[in-house]
Amino acid sequence: QDVLLEVRDLRTRFRTDHGEVPAVNGVDLTLRRGRTLCVVGESGCGKSVTARSILQLVEPPGRITGGRVLLHPDPDAGGADAGDGHASATASPAFTESVDLAALSPKGKEIRRVRGRDISMIFQEPMASLSLVHRVGNQIGEAIRVHNPVSKKEARRLSVALLGQVGIPSPERLVDSYPFQLSGGMRQRVMIAMALSCEPRLLIADEPTTALDVTTQAQILDLLADLQKRRGMGMMFITHDMGVVAEIADDVAVMYLGNVVERGTVDDVFHAPKHPYTRALLESIPRMGGARRDRLPAIRGTVPDPAKRPTGCVFRDRCDSAMPGLCDTVDPPPIDVGGGRQVRCLLYGGAEGRGPDDQVGGTGD
Ligand code: SF4
Ligand code: MG
Repeated sequence: QDVLLEVRDLRTRFRTDHGEVPAVNGVDLTLRRGRTLCVVGESGCGKSVTARSILQLVEPPGRITGGRVLLHPDPDAGGADAGDGHASATASPAFTESVDLAALSPKGKEIRRVRGRDISMIFQEPMASLSLVHRVGNQIGEAIRVHNPVSKKEARRLSVALLGQVGIPSPERLVDSYPFQLSGGMRQRVMIAMALSCEPRLLIADEPTTALDVTTQAQILDLLADLQKRRGMGMMFITHDMGVVAEIADDVAVMYLGNVVERGTVDDVFHAPKHPYTRALLESIPRMGGARRDRLPAIRGTVPDPAKRPTGCVFRDRCDSAMPGLCDTVDPPPIDVGGGRQVRCLLYGGAEGRGPDDQVGGTGD
């Protein structure tokens, strides 16, 4: 069993003056143990809301309206550590059976046991999880002590070790400083240390490098890739940058207007993209080694307003392969195209015997 987390037909809506708007509209994702899944798409496609929905962190007027988020137990739970001397305390797992996180109460004890311990999340803005005015060591120490009964002294020792692991020079000194004294890159490292403090099995990283300068971006990306491998963690990495996907992903899910339109291994998807949107995204990456060119607007048109979703395929107004009479009436379901790949596009099937009144999209996998 190498599947860590399965997201099935997840739906999250926001109540607005114009009715309920779907931000996440039937998303399927599979996260495997020890692998990195990149979720890629333009801003507003529902990447962040998907991530927040997994941990029940969507705030009103948003709410999960359907689907499942199945967290599977760790087959190695209770075993010895991986052997490379992780500095973190080892918390016992919250569950011994698969649990549907989407069915838990957002404020309840159960989801709080999952957060930080089984699944941690880091954000673009480190101050989303750090306080400016509490010492770094105290904040990491408190994060450790939420899930582990260790003394303050021990928590401090673990904090120093963690700061060393995220590449902070002289962690014994930095542990007593305040986040307001640190650069953006250092704050990001502190946030990563805090996220790793209870050895999560899955780290969700929501565009953690986007706000940093280019050099620091590369360093943080290398750090996360390295930590993911060394700890054998699963990682869900959210980005709008196909270059980042090429660098760190094992698997990739391409999102467009609240749906995953294509998913598979990064090799398969990059070498033979199937969805017209994936193809267009890949064409917009500047060629490696070639002459630098400005980002071309490779995809004509703009993303539709989620409050005015078109009928049929949500990509049809921008698609060069759109089939009149079909793509404007049938909403493409996820189609298995072999090799564990799925594509939501009628070029690959999904239109057989379906009319606008038929149930579309609900695969019973
Ligand atoms: Fe294009 Fe039709 Fe495929 Fe949508 S379903 S991506 S419009 S070909
Ligand atoms: Mg976002």
